[in-house]
Amino acid sequence: MAEAITVKPDTAFIRELQGCGGGDLKKCYQCATCSVVCNLSPDESPFPRKQMVLAQWGMKDQLLADPAIWLCHNCGDCSTMCPRGARPGDVFGALRKAAIERYSFPGFLAKVAGKPAGFLLLLLLPVLVFAAIVLFAPKGELTPDPEFANLFPQNILEPLFFAVSGLVLIAFAIGLARFIKALRKAGATGPIIPNLVPAAVEILAHSRFKKCGAERARYWGHMLTLWGFVGLAFMGTVVGIGTMIGVMHTPLDLMNPWKIFANVCAVVVFVGLVIILFDRLADPVKRAASTYFDWLFLLVLVGVVFTGILSEAMRLMGADPAMFYVYFVHLVLIMMLFLYAPYTKFAHIAYRTVAMAAAKS
Ligand code: SF4
Ligand code: SF4
Repeated sequence: MAEAITVKPDTAFIRELQGCGGGDLKKCYQCATCSVVCNLSPDESPFPRKQMVLAQWGMKDQLLADPAIWLCHNCGDCSTMCPRGARPGDVFGALRKAAIERYSFPGFLAKVAGKPAGFLLLLLLPVLVFAAIVLFAPKGELTPDPEFANLFPQNILEPLFFAVSGLVLIAFAIGLARFIKALRKAGATGPIIPNLVPAAVEILAHSRFKKCGAERARYWGHMLTLWGFVGLAFMGTVVGIGTMIGVMHTPLDLMNPWKIFANVCAVVVFVGLVIILFDRLADPVKRAASTYFDWLFLLVLVGVVFTGILSEAMRLMGADPAMFYVYFVHLVLIMMLFLYAPYTKFAHIAYRTVAMAAAKS
């Protein structure tokens, strides 16, 4: 006789999912329409129907170690077609947020980043850091024209951002190591690390996202934002290293090839973000389904791009002292974006890459 299995529903986890986007998960009656309509769901291991059962039972460990929750690009096809309005795409979004909270290091930061009440706390550290730089950092020789370096010296900003990047990489490495351990425990036996490169290429090319039928606008918005952001991050690293070793001097001339490249990337990100914002705000269903977790990442990114473009325009116009206030906000938002990347929706890119690598093996 088969051994009886006792399932203990984790009601706290069910409530957690219901509170962060998965409010309709209990409506699911297991018809499997969602798994049939999902273009990303593999035949050998279909989703999201199976995960909807597990979510209804609050099977937290099993769900958070399931690569399938990261193989979904939240296109919404399944939520649109679900005859019960259980919104499986949004349940997957809530599961991804819970996974980031579980694996990230230190975990309390993910809890702070996941709640509106934590926003001021997230803001506090960057504000204090840049206020201290303005008030106490030695300024060196001031230029006759107003330049950001007069208040925010490059010899402090560059090492600061490299130090932040180092901390973020360590936090990501610990979080992903925990995730890989959970994947192994859940039965993933194939190679994961060697598959990271093909998985990253697939993400950059958006080849999986392209398969989602109904979401062309989001596909383009996502792709432009990602590529523009990658370009800006690359350019920031090059200029950062260049200024630290003394072969580059900021601000770069408008006709400098790196400056042109950065401005093109900024426009690409800006267009991508406008598409994403319009797509989210124009549709009342998507608007209602968007959570604080979604908005925090999106609006910080929008803020970084907007204040970046605005502060550069103000500098060119010599708008002193207003340009310094805008640049201060710009620096605070950049610090928020990077420092909290392992705990916000930004972390998707890392966890999704690992999950896709695991799914390939
Ligand atoms: S989520 Fe909707 S479409 Fe999917 S199995 Fe449940 S009821 Fe059916
Ligand atoms: S939201 Fe899209 S990708 Fe995700 S499970 Fe539903 S249909 Fe598949």
